[in-house]
Amino acid sequence: MRGQEHAQRLAWLRAQLAARELDAHLVSGPENRRYLSGFTAADELLTETSGYLLITREQALLLTDFRYREWAQAEAAGFQVVIYQKSLGETLAEVLAEEGIRRLGFEPAYLSVRQYERLTQAAAEAGLRVEWLPQDNLVEQARECKDPAEVAAIREALRLTERVLGEVAGLLAPGLTERQVAWEIEKRLREAGAEGLAFAPIVAAGTNSARPHHRPGDTPLAAGEPIIIDLGCRVAGYCSDLTRTFILGGPTPRFREIYGLVRRAQRRAEAGLKAGLKSDAADALGREVIRQAGYGEFFGHSLGHGVGLAVHEAPSLSPHAERATVLRAGSVVTVEPGIYLPDWGGVRLENLVLLNETHAEVLTAMGYYDWEA
Ligand code: ZN
Ligand code: ZN
Repeated sequence: MRGQEHAQRLAWLRAQLAARELDAHLVSGPENRRYLSGFTAADELLTETSGYLLITREQALLLTDFRYREWAQAEAAGFQVVIYQKSLGETLAEVLAEEGIRRLGFEPAYLSVRQYERLTQAAAEAGLRVEWLPQDNLVEQARECKDPAEVAAIREALRLTERVLGEVAGLLAPGLTERQVAWEIEKRLREAGAEGLAFAPIVAAGTNSARPHHRPGDTPLAAGEPIIIDLGCRVAGYCSDLTRTFILGGPTPRFREIYGLVRRAQRRAEAGLKAGLKSDAADALGREVIRQAGYGEFFGHSLGHGVGLAVHEAPSLSPHAERATVLRAGSVVTVEPGIYLPDWGGVRLENLVLLNETHAEVLTAMGYYDWEA
């Protein structure tokens, strides 16, 4: 992403500050930090941070420590990098005092209770009267609509992912364990040029495939049983997400039935999705097909989720009407219906689509078993 995009994003955020009567916003979420500043460091744990942004009506500051100084200065071009010595809380309090910040937004989803206590205490000890005002999904809202460079990065990540899954599909054989397949995926994604994994690959064989988020173990692949493979990588920070379900030795009648049904649900959803639709209505596009066939209770997760700098981000294509949002043009979302039968296994098929005003462009090119198509 170039500096111009970051400047536009900051301008957008400042308009939000004005609308919410905030003096500043404190950004601790690593994807939000990257989105606004260009600083690419990731935080592996909630207990560690490579820096917080403080964006006021006029200033843009990146508070970080010695370890990240050069890196931050090189990447966060539009930001003044402030290095804290003793603690983030103390330095933040100094800056809040200098800038005269009274109403401060922060990100409750990305601030631990302990860190919140430390920061607010440091401000109180410095004699400041700051109102700490949680802002849910503020920067996330902007991230929902991707610009062309973001979509290009997602396409590139998906292209690598499809290539690797195509290669690995050709290696699947009875006796190979889930873990061995998962390692092949990791290795090949790296070799193909991915900068990292979007998440640890899911390889679920036999009845394990009835667990949507199974962790690969020592279960061997066997003929006649479903195998779910769900994988994704990162390119330029952006994620891909792809699932296909396989069976070795030709489809059983039951596999054919379930796979066909999941594929019909996916096709129906892809045909009906577009910007302007409510998220629960989007979920229903796929869910109805499965429900009408009598398998509704075996599809226990949402139809899809947004994908971008995070592999799970807004919007959520969830059936819950009380949390529904209106889908926006420029969103990249997954369409991933699944049916999970505890004593048998499961089938999930996951594509990425780009929403626009009139339709959803399916970004995933990987095919399916052709006895279904
Ligand atoms: Zn996935
Ligand atoms: Zn997904």
